Amino acid sequence: MAKERKIKCDCGSYLQPKNAAFGHFETEAMVCPKCGFTTLTREQAEKFVALKQMHQAIDMERKIIKIGNSIGFTLPEGLQELGAKVGKKVKLEALNENSFKVKLIG
Ligand SMILES: [Zn+2]
Repeated sequence: MAKERKIKCDCGSYLQPKNAAFGHFETEAMVCPKCGFTTLTREQAEKFVALKQMHQAIDMERKIIKIGNSIGFTLPEGLQELGAKVGKKVKLEALNENSFKVKLIG
């Protein structure tokens, strides 16, 4: 892991990386263990924005349709901006008995 610069809080403690909730999302932030002050580094802020975009693009219902001899479903249009392009490889992984994840690879 990259060496992070220590950020000193106004209260005198040092901020530590920790998962924090921002609205509906949980993301890694820098949190003061003493007073609870929370901030994001530039890198964490960029990750958070990408996470938010992904949530906005993907949180919706889809119906399984027939495609040739296979079945499938269409992907939300907004996902194209996030790298889900025609020809892109995806990997499917089971999460539990009724859900699976689709990971963009390559
Ligand atoms: Zn503090």
